[in-house]
Amino acid sequence: MRKIPMGEMAYQEKNGVGWLTFPSWDAFPGVRHAFSTRIGGVSEGPFASMNLNFGRGDPREHVEENFRRFCDAAGFSFDTLAASAQDHHTEIRRMTAADCGVGITRPKDRESVDGLVTNEPGVTLVTYYADCTPLFFFDPVHRAIGLGHAGWRGTAAGMALCMAERMQQEFGTDPRELFAAIGPAIGPCCYEVDEAVRSAFCAGPLPEAASCFTAASNGRYQLDLWRANKGALLAAGLLPEHITTAHLCTRCNHRLLWSHRATGGVRGGLAAFLTLLPEEEG
Ligand SMILES: [Zn+2]
Repeated sequence: MRKIPMGEMAYQEKNGVGWLTFPSWDAFPGVRHAFSTRIGGVSEGPFASMNLNFGRGDPREHVEENFRRFCDAAGFSFDTLAASAQDHHTEIRRMTAADCGVGITRPKDRESVDGLVTNEPGVTLVTYYADCTPLFFFDPVHRAIGLGHAGWRGTAAGMALCMAERMQQEFGTDPRELFAAIGPAIGPCCYEVDEAVRSAFCAGPLPEAASCFTAASNGRYQLDLWRANKGALLAAGLLPEHITTAHLCTRCNHRLLWSHRATGGVRGGLAAFLTLLPEEEG
């Protein structure tokens, strides 16, 4: 399968479905990850064509068919999907095989879940995006994974720190052995924010939060969510050589990726996928 480099990720297609992966994670045979694009779904109009968000007005059967097509192409089992219930907080849920189907073929059963962790193969974690920051985690020593959703609120509240701490509590993860990848999100090129956002960051747990803001000419700021999340991962104790940043802006790449700001909010959604493979496949 031909892979086309994009930032620190690579784009590939199968059966007309396109997705992104981190080549730096090819070294991990025990885990499979992917980030969706707009390419290869059945949705129409403003959702064309690979919309993986059930909550934006696209018919449910289209979104479910998109999930099935995505899973077939990228190598995930549809029946093992278990999704978040994101609301820009830092609640994290440990998923088990009993949770498969939650938020996909079964209703959501929680109000607020922005992070998912598991150490069970046979569960595929799913989180949703359209400019916010996807955070992928893999602990190869304890064979555990995590997916976190961090928009500006989650980033400011230290979602990356919370994920590393929760994996430590649940699985005994040593942050120095933990790998993380920061996926496609709105970049410092396109993310203008106001003083209220800057104040919230500077009041939060992130060290050097102010360094993530560049003054714009109109009294506003450009916010670098990639840098803020990397700073949080370093503060959590991860090694710099264990952190990959996609350096892919969703707004700049809005023909390939869903961007809330590029579409004015009338849009489909992207999803991140992460699963542990059974030992014999790994
Ligand atoms: Zn941009």
